[in-house]
Amino acid sequence: MEIIATAKEMQRRSEQLRLEGKKIAFVPTMGYLHKGHLTLMHEGKKRGDVLIVSIFVNPTQFGPGEDYERYPRDMKRDLALLKGVGVDICFTPPSQDMYPDGFQTCVEVEQVTKNLCGTSRPGHFRGVTTVVAKLFNIVKPHLAIFGEKDYQQLIAIKQMARDLNMDIEVIGIPTIRESDGLAMSSRNTYLTAKERKEALSLYRSLLKGKELFLQGQRSAAKILTEITGIIKEQKSATIDYVKICDVHTLEDIEEIKGEAIIALAVKIGKTRLLDNIILKEE
Ligand code: AMP
Repeated sequence: MEIIATAKEMQRRSEQLRLEGKKIAFVPTMGYLHKGHLTLMHEGKKRGDVLIVSIFVNPTQFGPGEDYERYPRDMKRDLALLKGVGVDICFTPPSQDMYPDGFQTCVEVEQVTKNLCGTSRPGHFRGVTTVVAKLFNIVKPHLAIFGEKDYQQLIAIKQMARDLNMDIEVIGIPTIRESDGLAMSSRNTYLTAKERKEALSLYRSLLKGKELFLQGQRSAAKILTEITGIIKEQKSATIDYVKICDVHTLEDIEEIKGEAIIALAVKIGKTRLLDNIILKEE
């Protein structure tokens, strides 16, 4: 596996691969890899000739007082996992290379980033779309793979690619879960044993919401009451939001018609966790 640490060198290498006619698949990550990340990589291997993975904890998507400094990092372990999957190139730029002195350009997707995490984490998606746009310009992929766990992020990136004529196919992959249902996340490592147990209420509540939907309930308010009830039983849980939204616009829905998403962000102790489930007639 090649390891490349500068944007210049990565661009040169990608240009070379493109001239050789190779289809480049790309998976951007912030490292501290788990099976969810690895599933995106397996998909990338299937779909491209060359798989490039970036590991970069992006400072601009963390707000003041968030966990940028203490975000878990383990480069040695990550590189071993990447080799195991058969990743061809790992791009690991230092922060100074991505944001040199004088940096002043941002990408902002307006509508789909307003609700949900956009409300509770102002500036977060601006950081995400800016870094992903930069990574796309550096890695020059033909296709890029993201997780549906971060559903709003996936929608924002698809919108950005469409609006800015980026010639990149953006692919979403369903959420990978632990055997007990907890959505895999690098941040799960922050949870104590007791908190981890309580965190199971997130997926349990989403399943309950889906069950109600499948039984014919179409009132978002009624489904949300059940869900919040389940989460509020947990001592360590503080709800940031639980919402039912349109799957494309991410605007709130009152009466579910066709497809919808239940999306939630809940703090378990000090750890903010995200999860979601799609509601669709079976
Ligand atoms: P992160 O390192 O958390 O920025 O995540 C990198 C990519 O992995 C993003 O596209 C995430 O949506 C995706 N991802 C994170 N957790 C999961 C999961 N449990 N299942 C599927 N994809 C995931």
